[in-house]
Amino acid sequence: MGKHIKPDERHVLTVEVVASKQVSPTFIRVTMGGDGLRQFVPMGFDQWFRVFIPKHGQSELRLPTTTSPLWFAQWMLMSKDTRPLGRNYTVRNFRTEGVFSAGPELDIDFAVHGGGEASAWAENAQVGDRIGILDEGVTYNPPAGADWELLVGDESALPAIVEFCSRPARICAPRCSSRSRTPTTRRRSPLPRGRTCTGWCGPIPRRPLARLPWRR
Ligand SMILES: Cc1cc2nc3c(=O)[nH]c(=O)nc-3n(C[C@H](O)[C@H](O)[C@H](O)COP(=O)(O)OP(=O)(O)OC[C@H]3O[C@@H](n4cnc5c(N)ncnc54)[C@H](O)[C@@H]3O)c2cc1C
Repeated sequence: MGKHIKPDERHVLTVEVVASKQVSPTFIRVTMGGDGLRQFVPMGFDQWFRVFIPKHGQSELRLPTTTSPLWFAQWMLMSKDTRPLGRNYTVRNFRTEGVFSAGPELDIDFAVHGGGEASAWAENAQVGDRIGILDEGVTYNPPAGADWELLVGDESALPAIVEFCSRPARICAPRCSSRSRTPTTRRRSPLPRGRTCTGWCGPIPRRPLARLPWRR
């Protein structure tokens, strides 16, 4: 796997909810917009970022001010009452021209699961709610010349996997299974012609895996 490509320049950005939609039984797509997003630089597939979300009862969004690795210390040193939730999410889509607002927009697909604060925030997100984001760049870079890839992840990795499968390259052709727990996720995440995306949830079935070339 290639190196983690970090953004040349990054900022702690304040963005706001401009839309949200249940896109499958287990995913909510929250679309962020606002002036802060104008400084966000899309880097392509598997771009991820930190999100800072006000916790229940926090009326103000406090954010780290540095983008050096010291942001983490700054965040940890905030009092428990003011420290926002910190989590990692993936760019599902970025548009320079918004659909729901006048400026750029960033879609985040949240896997909804019981007991998670970020998940609960996504379920209750209202237009105008503000969060912070800090770009982390691109982690997964397959080696040049790879002629196939096997991508394995849990449901929270699906936004990244679907993005890989949209790459205009010949190397992404995951095998298909009809056993997805979330068929609507696949339906609503159309892939380019000729590409399919496996959506196993729970234990990965062994027979289809055994047919993959790496087992030869
Ligand atoms: C680089 C990177 C990119 C990511 N991108 C995405 C993304 O685009 N979309 C996305 O949904 N997630 C993504 N994740 C995963 C996400 O950061 C975690 O699922 C996160 O912990 C969710 O926070 P929470 O507050 O909802 O739950 P937490 O408070 O972290 O966890 C509460 C409980 O829920 C369990 N839990 C956490 N996540 C899940 C889950 N997905 N399904 C079932 N149980 C869970 C935990 O084990 C724990 O028991 C990404 C993670 C990384 C490292």
